Amino acid sequence: MIVVGAGPGGLACAIAAADAGGTVLLLEKAPDVGGALPYSGGHLSAGGFSLQHERGISDDPERHFDDVWRISRGAARADLTRLTLREQPAVLEWLLAAGLTVDPGTPRIVYGHEPYRTPRTVHATTVPGGPAILAVLRPMLDAHLAAGRIDLRCEVRVTELLTEGGAVVGVATADGAR
Ligand SMILES: Cc1cc2nc3c(=O)[nH]c(=O)nc-3n(C[C@H](O)[C@H](O)[C@H](O)COP(=O)(O)OP(=O)(O)OC[C@H]3O[C@@H](n4cnc5c(N)ncnc54)[C@H](O)[C@@H]3O)c2cc1C
Repeated sequence: MIVVGAGPGGLACAIAAADAGGTVLLLEKAPDVGGALPYSGGHLSAGGFSLQHERGISDDPERHFDDVWRISRGAARADLTRLTLREQPAVLEWLLAAGLTVDPGTPRIVYGHEPYRTPRTVHATTVPGGPAILAVLRPMLDAHLAAGRIDLRCEVRVTELLTEGGAVVGVATADGAR
């Protein structure tokens, strides 16, 4: 399997594939992994996860979707948004189980942007919180690198997806490799 980009999306994808027994070629154009994560506020929101349950907060992905739809004024793509929000509780539980520690005052409503109606956002105690998430992902990546399940190549820019019959079967990179 080839994963293009080692931001939080690509890292999670590569780690999950390797956890499931796959072998992954992870291509990243930057000198290091993380994408925008080092600069991110690290706010993570989900509808219906354990920290909400512990605080008696009633929530679910559909209510999360209703809030996103209201805040985006219907500009979000409904199918992708629903898919993402349905997976969000599991993603958050995965990060918590892997050692992400969050501010004890969370989940809370964040007022830095038009707010959700329900406390469903957690973040690390550090500011910005993105590096705390990267600090959780990196050891998982390192374990797979050491075991040879992920082959990480940095400073490799993918220029083209190679397809056969409509399916992606490979990539081309800026240095001419395929
Ligand atoms: C200042 C700031 C604050 C933010 N705060 C939050 C927050 O609090 N909560 C939140 O949920 N989100 C936040 N975000 C958004 C969040 O960081 C992004 O949604 C997230 O990083 C997206 O992850 P990604 O893996 O899809 O993309 P990215 O993080 O952009 O990673 C993409 C990776 O792919 C690599 N890449 C791109 N093209 C190629 C190519 N052709 N070949 C090889 N590699 C390639 C890039 O170098 C990069 O490493 C914030 C973003 C910023 C900038």
